[in-house]
Amino acid sequence: MRTIDRNRVTRLLELEDERYVESHPKSQELFARASHSLLNGLPMNWMEKWPSPYPPFMQRAVGGRLWDADGNEYIDFCLGDTGAMAGHSPLGAVDAITHQAANGLTAILPTEDAIWVGEELTRRFGVGIWQVAMTATDANRFAMRLARHITGRNKILVFNWCYHGTVDEALAILDGEHVVRRPGVVGSTCDPSHTTRVVEFNDVAALARELSHGDVACVLCEPALTNIGIILPEPNFHHQLRRLTREAGTLLVIDETHTLCAGPGGMTGAEHLSPDLLVVGKSIGGGFPVAALGMTHEVATAASEPVREPHLNISGIGGTLSGNALAIAAVRGNLETSLRDEDYAYTVPLAARWADGVAAVIADADLAWTVTQLGCRAEYWLSDPRTARQAADTVDDDVERFLHLYALNRGLLLTPFHNMALMCTSITGADVDTHTEVFEAAVSALTS
Ligand code: PMP
Repeated sequence: MRTIDRNRVTRLLELEDERYVESHPKSQELFARASHSLLNGLPMNWMEKWPSPYPPFMQRAVGGRLWDADGNEYIDFCLGDTGAMAGHSPLGAVDAITHQAANGLTAILPTEDAIWVGEELTRRFGVGIWQVAMTATDANRFAMRLARHITGRNKILVFNWCYHGTVDEALAILDGEHVVRRPGVVGSTCDPSHTTRVVEFNDVAALARELSHGDVACVLCEPALTNIGIILPEPNFHHQLRRLTREAGTLLVIDETHTLCAGPGGMTGAEHLSPDLLVVGKSIGGGFPVAALGMTHEVATAASEPVREPHLNISGIGGTLSGNALAIAAVRGNLETSLRDEDYAYTVPLAARWADGVAAVIADADLAWTVTQLGCRAEYWLSDPRTARQAADTVDDDVERFLHLYALNRGLLLTPFHNMALMCTSITGADVDTHTEVFEAAVSALTS
């Protein structure tokens, strides 16, 4: 297998940085101005993760295309790191948002659309009763609170290198056998070894061992790990997970926020999984901030009293703007017209085409890299990891930055946190083939 010359990577990065600066003068000017009023020049710290010296300032985005302030056009395979999985400004969501925006945004009152949303989410995920939150982070927090309340236990169990939002209990990894705070977490008061058990995804024996302590309120998991590359479940894993959690009296919370890429009901819908609680966020509102928390009728029965009068607004569940009329309208408008069976029938083969193209380039270059597809999403990794720990240990920041920046400089956006490409219905086979050509040229620059 071929190895990559580090000096070459450094030189190539310098060339790509120069090329970026030359073609993004307006974004540079805006970034300089922004540094006077925004922390590190950005409205949200994650935006610093783009591979360029400063991010392109977005001017507008529609479907699978995005234009920056310098007039550069991009094919957008990032799609807001899944927030825009339905494509930028999907018409159904835009119409619903436009209509509702002129008729009251938020009132702490239900609208009839909310009933449609509950019924549609049940149809898609098979989980019966719903609450609406603003973000997936919030929905995960609410799910953990309910699980702790219902079971009377205080720990949660997560999988190594998971991500479920800014939830302290889940920002934990394994260091050898010990649960430790994930490197980089800011200002956390909790020592996660007091709140959290961590297990390697697909490790059924470790899962059984950790659940046997009898102190785990819920397992909070993605049905496939997506935040450390894509780690798919082994064939029997979900069956064992469900069996073991039931035996241990532990609730199972499945977070479908990213895995909605697998189909209209995520992996839960596609593989008939049966969680006790389910979280889905980001893309359900077409990019508008909103998330949903589903639960079985059994959980709902146990949850209904504690979140009611007299102390409901300090229960730790809910929020002033959660379930607002505008967010609910966005979900209805979006799910009526996007992320349906017919949409996945188009986007899943497109992701396969992307993965096949990347795999062929990797094989031709004799590199020990891999590509994994999950529904309408695919992702390459610069190793062949079997576990999340191996995936984390083999991140190569420089080569990944080069591949991302090389693509960006040639009009292709990949998600900055992973080597991930997501397909929406406005992306074409020709767009995917453009990526394959650019990826091939980038790999050839690295290896020839
Ligand atoms: N769950 C998963 C699986 C996620 O990947 C993320 C964010 N990437 C979240 C929850 C949190 O979403 P948000 O930042 O919108 O709260």
